[in-house]
Amino acid sequence: MRPISRRTVLKGAGGAALALTLTRLGFRLASTQEEVVYTYYQYRGWEDVYRKKWTWDKVTWGTHLVDCYPGGCSFRVYTKDGIVWREEQSGVYPCIDKDVPDMNPRGCQKGSSFSRVMYGAERLKYPLKRAGKRGEGKWQRITWDEALTEIADAMLNAIEESGPETIIYEFGSGEGGMVNGPQPAWRLMRLIGGTTLDSNGLTSDYNVGIYQTFGKFQFVSSVDDWHHSDLILIWHMNPVYTRIPCAHFVHEARYHGTEIVSIAPDYNASSTHADLYVPIEAGTDAALALAMCRIIIDDGKVDEPFVKEQTDLPLLVRRDDGHYLRASDMEEGGRDDQLYFLDASGDIVPAPRGTLDLGDADPSLSGETTATLKDGATVEVTPAFEILRERLRDYTPEKASQITGVGPNLIRKLANKVADARAVHMLQGFSACKYYHGDLIERSMALLMALTGNFGRKGTGMRGWNSAQLLTSHLLKTRPGLEGFLEFAREARKVEKRLLDEDDTLSEEMIAIETDREEVRGSTVTNMPATPMMVPPAFYWYNHCGYKDVWNRPEWNDPTMKRTFDEYMTEAVERSRKAEAGKGEKGWWEGLIRPAPDKPPRVYLGVAGSTLRRTRGGFKQLLNNLWPKLDLIVSCELRMSTTAYFSDIVLPASGFYEKTDFRFPTMHVNFLTFTDQAVQPLGECKPEWEAFALLAKKLQERARQREVGEYEDDGGRHYRLDDVYDVYTMHGAFKERDGEKLAEEMVKDTVRVGALPEKTDLKEVRKRGVIRFTGLGADAVGLNVSTDIKPGETISPLRWHTERKIPYPTFARRIQFYIDHDWFLEAGEELPVHKPPPRMGGDYPLVMNSAHLRWSIHSIWVVNQTLLRTHRGHPLVIMNPEDAEARGIADDDEVRVFNDFDHFNIRTKISSATRPGQVIVHHAWEPYQYKGWRPYDSTVPGMIKWLHLAGGYGHLKYWRWNWVQAQVDRVIRVEVEKAV
Ligand code: SF4
Repeated sequence: MRPISRRTVLKGAGGAALALTLTRLGFRLASTQEEVVYTYYQYRGWEDVYRKKWTWDKVTWGTHLVDCYPGGCSFRVYTKDGIVWREEQSGVYPCIDKDVPDMNPRGCQKGSSFSRVMYGAERLKYPLKRAGKRGEGKWQRITWDEALTEIADAMLNAIEESGPETIIYEFGSGEGGMVNGPQPAWRLMRLIGGTTLDSNGLTSDYNVGIYQTFGKFQFVSSVDDWHHSDLILIWHMNPVYTRIPCAHFVHEARYHGTEIVSIAPDYNASSTHADLYVPIEAGTDAALALAMCRIIIDDGKVDEPFVKEQTDLPLLVRRDDGHYLRASDMEEGGRDDQLYFLDASGDIVPAPRGTLDLGDADPSLSGETTATLKDGATVEVTPAFEILRERLRDYTPEKASQITGVGPNLIRKLANKVADARAVHMLQGFSACKYYHGDLIERSMALLMALTGNFGRKGTGMRGWNSAQLLTSHLLKTRPGLEGFLEFAREARKVEKRLLDEDDTLSEEMIAIETDREEVRGSTVTNMPATPMMVPPAFYWYNHCGYKDVWNRPEWNDPTMKRTFDEYMTEAVERSRKAEAGKGEKGWWEGLIRPAPDKPPRVYLGVAGSTLRRTRGGFKQLLNNLWPKLDLIVSCELRMSTTAYFSDIVLPASGFYEKTDFRFPTMHVNFLTFTDQAVQPLGECKPEWEAFALLAKKLQERARQREVGEYEDDGGRHYRLDDVYDVYTMHGAFKERDGEKLAEEMVKDTVRVGALPEKTDLKEVRKRGVIRFTGLGADAVGLNVSTDIKPGETISPLRWHTERKIPYPTFARRIQFYIDHDWFLEAGEELPVHKPPPRMGGDYPLVMNSAHLRWSIHSIWVVNQTLLRTHRGHPLVIMNPEDAEARGIADDDEVRVFNDFDHFNIRTKISSATRPGQVIVHHAWEPYQYKGWRPYDSTVPGMIKWLHLAGGYGHLKYWRWNWVQAQVDRVIRVEVEKAV
């Protein structure tokens, strides 16, 4: 190899700087002729640029409106001559608790190079119309007016010929703005009756097992609360990759003695910072957790006061049919949801529904007694804890060791660590939930935490995600200002009163959830038209996207299923139909199966969500099955994603420093984070509020011209388009260019619900860049955190339950491990158990797992030149050296990965950090970065678990982001061979 001299390096560095300079000037050139002259006069060469490198015309606040959860990093954005030259972390976060490190500085390498994406070759600048076949890559530049006219006409055709529900709206993770991003098109969809797909169902970032256990999953601590733990279990998360601005709290906690344990099938970047690394066979985590539970019970280390008060484990279960003992069993007219304890006195006593406070009662966790039913018959009943103890007999450390590959002594050691720790935090991300039996994994992990009382205290808990505190006025209001807010509040109050008249034990949180459920099925709480806010995508995939055949392959489903997938689907749909017809079946999927099987989608609108990349198996399934049905495919995007590439019309969206907005906030960070308009949007890009205001205007104009009158959707709801722009803009209060006013409105409404300090306004936000939230907001998702936000304290969720004894929003009103829904009983999953992942993809020797890429968040940065230079820069499969050698494969070889679903080609990275038998492909790569444009998920069938179609039971009822089916993509069976 030729030696590299220092001079060569310097030359190289100078070349890079010049290239960067010219790239940016190039964009400047693309604007107007006058600017070209000006630009050249200012910058005669890279030396000028270098000398003036640290002088700016202005410095503004910025953040990145992408779902880099939890994100929300405040940046300073440096602008000169209308170009953003650089950005850097701001370091403005105040100290919250003097004993805890502060958040400064928040940021990652992606955010620090967003300006490169703004000016990158992938950036969209003008509305485009397909000029060749779909995906051929031939484009014609058109005006916004031409684009919007085509879109409006296609939408009107769909409305007139098939119904508005055949207009599909999907938003993605690539734009997490609150004023803009997904919200404006969402508002428009509600006004015209379109179908908005549930974003958790689409992303699979839905902790289904946590939801099954708590009736919610969006309760999170602030990331600085991790510092209060003395044991952090990193289990199904890799924070060094995926929580870059937050990972320091894990590392800093070690300075005061916190022990870090990483449990993972690969020795990942976070494992290297742990005190103890526990390698585990992928998908066997439930067996490990249950064995630890057994040890804790056998050793008498259960936190009994917590378990008796907070969980369902003392509730009595009938031995004859496995159902809870209910008041409806015992007396005529008794409630179906009134459950019972066995008191220490030996009496069967009703478990309070309106509080967790046990008063003088002392529920037993063991024992057996006889209950007399209303017909005089008797049944044996026992606490659920007793049944749990019996089931855990199967989980000796030795047996669990055979399943998990973790040694029995290590299992014992781990169990003791958890039992003996003062406060345990489980850093579990969105990985377990992407396993077929991820619900069982999460339920088992939650059981371990509950048996040891690790919820509702500082430094404890598990985590999902959360975004709710900032009131999105444009999703709720039809009128501006205080009047619109009060109108919304009055309607909400009416619903609350009605719900309390039916059941006065409902908590504030339960009322908010029920209100959301009504909203999603089309109530008028918000004065918006009664269109469902969102619907689960599973039925759309099944009916319209070709997944029916895939999901019905028995060998890819769980072998313990008693019936075929279709039999479960049919029952779920039938029950929903009966409910729709008022025939008594409540709460399955009525009103949510949109569009109906006989109504193929006509128009697809995506905002910052690349469905062809994100939908598991979607590049194959959607292109083959959905695309041919669609009259028009529209993508509104910042950059040319794969879906945009295969669209008919592409609308260019403004970048994160080209509009006034807020990053979607989360309790994890608990600051409202502001991004200002530093520069004019590039080319003809527009903020989404403006883009969809213009579309509303065009719909109104074309509807009037075409004399489209009132119409109805599949739910019999009525709409009209001749005033849709007026309603969209709240009767002129927020016109196309009024995004700034809308931001002000959102801040004011958020102050009104007490989630921001009094007197906060946009001016204050602009002055400070970040403002700490003071409350949870008015949204059900915010209330899911169930804790008070106090000055000077980190945020620990669930404290309303542990301290104020407010019940959980589950069927049992407690943390619920025993689910007596008929389908769960039939599956043997009424309690958490371990089940091996089905052999999805076929009978192949390797399992393929996936995770986020370190260098991109979703796919926004994945083709960014700056970041591509920091790693190999192309998709790769990580293989263990033994597996590679056995197949004659070397590092960087091109290989073919295949199974019964399909195949793809990719290069290898050989690393012993991956256990034998497992290969890893990170999922953010765009399909067009793969050879032949055949992405990794060509081999991912995109299965859903049949049990998640269950309904009609307590909390197992859909509401926005909750109890929604999500596709799984972990432990896919594949083989790898050298490509020829
Ligand atoms: Fe923070 Fe996300 Fe920006 Fe990275 S991309 S700096 S995590 S907001």
